[in-house]
Amino acid sequence: MSDAFLAACRAAIGAEHVSTAQADTASYLTDWRGRFTGRCRAVLRPADGDAVAQLVRLCAQFRVPLVPQGGRTGLVLGSVPDASGDAVVLSLRRLNRIRAIDPFNRTMTVDAGCILHDIQQEAARHGMLFPLSLAAEGSCSIGGNLSTNAGGTGVLRYGNTRELCLGLEVVTAAGEVWDSLRGLRKDNTGYDLRDLYIGAEGTLGVITGAVLKLFPQPKAAITALVALGSARDALDLLKLAENACGPTLTGYELMSDICLRLVASHFPALPQPFPEHYPQYALLELSSHESEAHAVALLENAIEAALEAGVARDAVVATSIAQSRGLWAIREHIPLAQAAAGKNIKHDISLPISRIADFVRHTDALLARAYPGVQVVCFGHLGDGNLHYNVAPPEAIGHEEFLFEQAAVNRIVHDSVTQFGGSISAEHGIGALKREELARYKSPVELNLMRALKAALDPLGIMNPGKIL
Ligand code: FAD
Repeated sequence: MSDAFLAACRAAIGAEHVSTAQADTASYLTDWRGRFTGRCRAVLRPADGDAVAQLVRLCAQFRVPLVPQGGRTGLVLGSVPDASGDAVVLSLRRLNRIRAIDPFNRTMTVDAGCILHDIQQEAARHGMLFPLSLAAEGSCSIGGNLSTNAGGTGVLRYGNTRELCLGLEVVTAAGEVWDSLRGLRKDNTGYDLRDLYIGAEGTLGVITGAVLKLFPQPKAAITALVALGSARDALDLLKLAENACGPTLTGYELMSDICLRLVASHFPALPQPFPEHYPQYALLELSSHESEAHAVALLENAIEAALEAGVARDAVVATSIAQSRGLWAIREHIPLAQAAAGKNIKHDISLPISRIADFVRHTDALLARAYPGVQVVCFGHLGDGNLHYNVAPPEAIGHEEFLFEQAAVNRIVHDSVTQFGGSISAEHGIGALKREELARYKSPVELNLMRALKAALDPLGIMNPGKIL
């Protein structure tokens, strides 16, 4: 059966785009963090939406599960196959055309395999902005961003990927093409199917194209790093900066001192902005459509007010693009520094912004009681209520050994998240990694609705099985 299936795939997209040899498939099978390596029947690399539709029809006919894959930078084991070797990996990387730009509608139509950075560059070439931005932007694809409803650093001003998409082209689980590449900002014609496929992690269909929203390019962007006494001060500064700067405040990131120390020890060439250490730091970005002077004046006024009110302890405002990049580099190197330090137990959580400081104090204390000396590496997109709350072992415990505590640590953190009205997955999704946690924390009503949707849209269960549900 598998031979007939593979022969049909080869006939559909060319033998050179169907790989079965281990040497050719290996780079598609391990997740970005290197935690899991799956197996597959083959890797299929179609060139366009029609070819994707042909392959999905073959998968349906031969009952072969398929795992859509973009840049494979997802962090919840969503884009790699399981260990059974039954599934095929459907790589979207060859779907990489920018199809059209409409400057009056402020939209760009793209193939799903386009790399996020290429889309940003193309928008900039036309004097516009595509504001989705995250540290993996050099290798993640827009199809992956849509399928995980990625967040990143611009959510405070521009929203998640869902808010940046006006239309989709999707190959359904039956292999039909649903063309909804409409650049409409208003369209109330029944159920919102677009929003269903966004964030579905490839479990309902394959996204092959999208219409993206573009924005006017700001004239200037200014960055500052502010030293703070506590997470509570970070909330006060956020409120103060939002009031003072309005929609020019486009980014607000929180980093604890442990994060800065980690980055300094693993990447000593990066700037160390303050001569002394403080408990917390906030990274602010302002984007002005007037001028750099306007952005600097707004930011400096906000920081002065924060220093006077005792909310801020010290601050550095970047005076050049290089300095601004240096400050962002500190933030973006935290995951890399953590990876270099050894494995830890990660949580991508969101909370009502007003409850973040209390959550951090409460949960830090619970963890310290359960594991004296434990290190919480906490950073994230505070302006969106999103924390990366990562737990590293006390010095006496090895990193690998501490991973045995994963379930117990997750229970402490996720129970606390639930108690404070938050979510166990803010922006990375569920994948295979958090499937059991989802089943634990979602209500039976919500889970049943999700299962009903899955059964209706993928009755054969071939679309990325074992992910989310
Ligand atoms: P993949 O990893 O290939 O796939 C992700 C999921 O989408 C899988 O379930 C896959 O099956 C599905 N999928 C992929 N393409 C399609 C398609 N065309 N149709 C249907 N399903 C598809 N995320 C954030 O939200 N914010 C961040 O700030 C952030 N920072 C990151 C920093 C680093 C260094 C890394 C490595 C990751 C980060 N991420 C972040 C994770 C984020 O989910 C991914 O980077 C990105 O959105 C996934 O894109 P991808 O093309 O790599 O998708």
